[in-house]
Amino acid sequence: MKEFIRDLGLENINYGYSTGLKNRAGAGEELISYSPADQTPIASTTLCTTTDFEEAIQAAKSAYVQWRNVPAPKRGEIVRQMGEAFRKNKQALGQLVSYEMGKSLQEGLGEVQEIIDICDFAVGLSRQLYGLTMHSERPEHRMYEQYHPLGIVGIISAFNFPVAVWSWNAMIAWVCGNVCIWKPSEKTPLSAIACQNIISSVIESNQLPEGLSTLLIGGPEIGQALSSHEDVALVSATGSTRMGKAVAKTVASRLGKYLLELGGNNSIIVTENADLNLTVPAVVFGAVGTAGQRCTTTRRLIVHQSVKEELTQRLVKAYGQLKIGDPLDPAHHVGPLIDQDAVLNYTNAIEAAVAQGGEILFGGEVLEGNYVLPTIIDMPAQTEIVKHETFAPILYILTYEDWNDAIFLQNDVPQGLSSAVFTQNIREAERFLSANGSDCGIANVNIGTSGAEIGGAFGGEKETGGGRESGSDAWKAYMRRQTNTINYGTTLPLAQGIKFDL
Ligand code: NAD
Repeated sequence: MKEFIRDLGLENINYGYSTGLKNRAGAGEELISYSPADQTPIASTTLCTTTDFEEAIQAAKSAYVQWRNVPAPKRGEIVRQMGEAFRKNKQALGQLVSYEMGKSLQEGLGEVQEIIDICDFAVGLSRQLYGLTMHSERPEHRMYEQYHPLGIVGIISAFNFPVAVWSWNAMIAWVCGNVCIWKPSEKTPLSAIACQNIISSVIESNQLPEGLSTLLIGGPEIGQALSSHEDVALVSATGSTRMGKAVAKTVASRLGKYLLELGGNNSIIVTENADLNLTVPAVVFGAVGTAGQRCTTTRRLIVHQSVKEELTQRLVKAYGQLKIGDPLDPAHHVGPLIDQDAVLNYTNAIEAAVAQGGEILFGGEVLEGNYVLPTIIDMPAQTEIVKHETFAPILYILTYEDWNDAIFLQNDVPQGLSSAVFTQNIREAERFLSANGSDCGIANVNIGTSGAEIGGAFGGEKETGGGRESGSDAWKAYMRRQTNTINYGTTLPLAQGIKFDL
């Protein structure tokens, strides 16, 4: 048994759901979590059923009645304590994320750092849930708006960011006065259980209600149960576009609120004015980091023909130096894919790309287990496979001559998450960021597509789902807005000059 598994309280666990303090076995089947690094079973848990789910909803409902009355800065103090608990557990949790998901140790630790950072952000935010005041058109009247909590926030998360995405939602939702029900990916249940264990000490020591944080270990059917339940005010779902469409349909049928963070197909445009010393490391990290399993992974490189040869040569050389293997070994840059299905998707995509005219410049091979070689494919055009998000380290190279063609290629995919341009020409940079430029939620200049900071609003357009999470004013999605008008005069003037004499 690895030490970090013991440190995180994951020995002999056998529960399918937790309402904050009480951990209960789910009534469903056993779920064993295997490490994609070596296929070793790490620990087992049980799946919860829709009956267990109903009990969780009741716990959340009664917690909400209490929590919404706690002043927002006091809610922030609880989140501050949670941030401290994550600081203490950063090493162990980072190792678990790396071992259970397969990302490099540095990226596992980076995920936990994101939790700590969003806690800090949320603490400050807890004193800044500002509404506007407006001047009334009527004398002796005052108008303002205020934000109230929504109620229960359901969080559905994906395997590739097994802890950070939850925290972007939960920490903000909590300071806003909501309670959270989290359904993590069934591929990474232990990372979620570890987070729940870490915050349960804070819940307990502050005598907070059961149900402030509920964790449900389950598959798509529990995600659907959350989406269809009328007591779940907001469903924030991160995952594939296929999942997002199913969740949106279910939530919309009851006119509930949803926030969707779905697939990306991110590109970097490299112009003839790019500094290739910046471009090469940005492309390599963007394309191979997390073995190409980030929503913001660089999947397409749109290169000006004049720099294509030099850039591809340098990329091929850099790919040749990548160290692939055990993600817990800090010497390795690239870990495994999550499972054998992902390996199959990798080989199928490469086959399709070659059938559609692609030429493999590097990689294209499965190593052993879930490990694959990061791959570069030169494409004659933006064919069907290039428009599809394959969750693997495959980088497609497209060539352009004219700036308008580059922008056309960048935008001519169904997804709209992250994008970047590498140029030292201010006109190209500004055009890229203008209304005629990138249509993505994230557009960068001289930095790559992946690795967003928590301070900005995170999310994308089109099939990426349109939601925004994390920083800036993304908190507004977790609250309901109320407009208030107060008459402190002795008459009752009506708006729009209407007279109504009695
Ligand atoms: P997935 O869609 O298979 O699963 C994501 C979550 O949704 C899991 O918890 C799963 O159980 C649940 N789910 C699946 N089908 C469902 C349904 N019909 N109803 C309700 N819940 C359902 O995705 P994945 O393979 O875990 O993650 C990879 C995908 O997530 C990629 O497409 C990636 O781009 C995307 N992603 C997006 C972001 C973002 O912020 N935009 C972040 C991380 C991952």
